[in-house]
Amino acid sequence: MPINENVSDLFGSKVFNSGVMRKRLPKHIYASLLKTMKEDLPLEENVAEVVANAMKDWALELGATHYTHWFQPMTGITAEKHDAFINPTEDGKVIMEFSGKELIKGEPDASSFPSGGLRATFEARGYTAWDPTSYAFIKGTTLYIPTIFCSYSGEVLDKKTPLLRSMETLNENAKRILKLFGKDVKKVTTTIGAEQEYFLVEREMFKKRKDLILTGRTLFGAKPPKGQEMETHYFGKIRGRVANYMDELDRELWSLGISSKTRHNEVAPAQHEMAPIFTNTNVATDNNQLIMEFMQRVAYRHDLACLLHEKPFDGVNGSGKHNNFSMSTDTGENLLNPGDNPAENKQFLIFLCATIEAVYKYSEMLRISVATAGNDHRLGANEAPPAIVSVFLGEQLTAVLKSIETGEPVTEAKDLVMALGVKSLPKFIIDATDRNRTSPFAFTGNKFEFRMLGSNQSIAGPNITLNTIVADVLSDYADVLEKADDLDAAIDALLQKSVKENKNVVFNGNNYSDEWVEEAARRGLPNLKTTPTALAEFTSEKNVALFGRHNIFTPAEMESRQTILLEEYIKTINIEALTMLTLAKREISPAVVTYTKEVVDTLAAKKAIGSVDVTAETTLTERLSTLFGTFIKSIDVLETTLAAAHECEGEQAEANYFCEKVIPAMGELRLAADALEEIVAEKYWPFPTYEDILFYV
Ligand code: ADP
Ligand code: MG
Repeated sequence: MPINENVSDLFGSKVFNSGVMRKRLPKHIYASLLKTMKEDLPLEENVAEVVANAMKDWALELGATHYTHWFQPMTGITAEKHDAFINPTEDGKVIMEFSGKELIKGEPDASSFPSGGLRATFEARGYTAWDPTSYAFIKGTTLYIPTIFCSYSGEVLDKKTPLLRSMETLNENAKRILKLFGKDVKKVTTTIGAEQEYFLVEREMFKKRKDLILTGRTLFGAKPPKGQEMETHYFGKIRGRVANYMDELDRELWSLGISSKTRHNEVAPAQHEMAPIFTNTNVATDNNQLIMEFMQRVAYRHDLACLLHEKPFDGVNGSGKHNNFSMSTDTGENLLNPGDNPAENKQFLIFLCATIEAVYKYSEMLRISVATAGNDHRLGANEAPPAIVSVFLGEQLTAVLKSIETGEPVTEAKDLVMALGVKSLPKFIIDATDRNRTSPFAFTGNKFEFRMLGSNQSIAGPNITLNTIVADVLSDYADVLEKADDLDAAIDALLQKSVKENKNVVFNGNNYSDEWVEEAARRGLPNLKTTPTALAEFTSEKNVALFGRHNIFTPAEMESRQTILLEEYIKTINIEALTMLTLAKREISPAVVTYTKEVVDTLAAKKAIGSVDVTAETTLTERLSTLFGTFIKSIDVLETTLAAAHECEGEQAEANYFCEKVIPAMGELRLAADALEEIVAEKYWPFPTYEDILFYV
């Protein structure tokens, strides 16, 4: 069957989407559900019962036997518990049933999910509740129902509830602004297109490396003779095996209604990227979870392994996720679209300036939203944006803002036509911004691209932050403008004030340079280099007030989330350190001993002959012994350092300790092991090297 057969039939074929609903639901029920989905109106009671029944019939036709409430606990991944549709009858048979109640509410045991001290284990009850704004879908033989997750006493235990709340506050405040421009729209949603980077390696290789299996990244590995220096991989020809993988991945995603659009090779060998077409933030978040899951599942079927870790290999680029962000109305207007003449487009300028101001005011919170142990390997490591948050605007918008600040007219040309000097080539209008790959927060034509996210993380956290901080500034703007007698004058004054006060965060240059680090310090921009230093700011007065003001998190919920994030950091590094120790002691050490024995045996045999030169064997033995000595010592140091970690009081102190003491000890051990790898015979080395893993055919 040709691969492109029936793509349009295939697309969304496993999704209970509005097309299916329209066909299967009575008109008034469909209309009511649509109102809930599109306008955030509360669900009417009788609706759930009818929807549940239609959903079940549809799911059964597609082979489903089970349903599950699918939720996103604070672990950043998804959770599910499957229940069969079966219901026993008196004659000893079963019928397949699914009630409105079962659709709306589930009661999973909440005690084994992180709560950061919010909920004691004896109060184990948790609730999941249907989120009608993200479609249900079928995976395997199960109907998946997107839900939120909270505790018996109402504390939020997931990532979706705060995300929905943040979308709500953005909606409210953006509508206030639009009203001032005479636009009475029903809803403003944030839209997200999340580009996903990943590595694909052979499963055979993956299985031989406990570090990849247990931690997702290589903890040892000398630099291969060839890395990414030839710059041939980015956008390079996609090898056959990978192309087949991508084809199958696309088909899986399309059937789930996920519009996988772009695919290409990335900078590092064996690294790739896919980007879906943007959609509303809630759906984009669910979709990204499915994308990551299917990337791994499909890899398995192709004897490959998909690595989603931020830094699977030292010395080659790591993986991130680019969160393309904009806001749009239910009438289809993109609020970050500058239009033909941005300088005159006051509405656009308000949304633009609000976003810039939000990033400046809450840059710590944005940094915190991407702080994980894995991402610490990337941010600021000359391959990804630094830990300093700044905004790239490009020449044209910078000129527009300059003119707002100074009151002088804009000097830049509005549209620039690209003429290539070849008559047969079409002319085209070039973009308002060039690309600046180094900026953490870049305006790219009609959206902002937040580039600091780690490849492995849920996009919920960063978008809870983005939505809330932009909503916060929009709300301040609306407070001022709603009171104004002369609206035009008030808008001009507000824009000028905002540009002046926030220009410090705008930076169009090279974010990877050392000069920028110094310049940013002079500008007073925070530089929270590591996860523990960033997380320490999570519960700052400013942040607690922000999330409280918009009813996203209570102070208790903030504290619990901080605890969870710190614990996650500690656990991650702890597992990595323990894995290193196991590999060092049980795999590398024996290999070195065996190889040394071979060298020493040769040395002895040669010596026995008499007058043969044994300098080479002697030198090699000495080298092995010296490096092995350092290696064994580093094992001991790491072990002692790790053992002392529990003496720290509180999660923050312990996280700091792991960052400042354990990670450097891990670094020392790795250095010694990698040096040994370079001189121990290949056949003795216990696991595949970087070369073996990265350059397969
Ligand atoms: P690049 O690699 O140049 O950043 P891509 O085409 O790979 O570009 O990704 C751009 C992403 O931005 C896509 O996911 C696209 O759907 C998304 N995008 C485009 N317009 C918007 C918008 N208005 N809101 C959110 N995301 C958008
Ligand atoms: Mg991009």
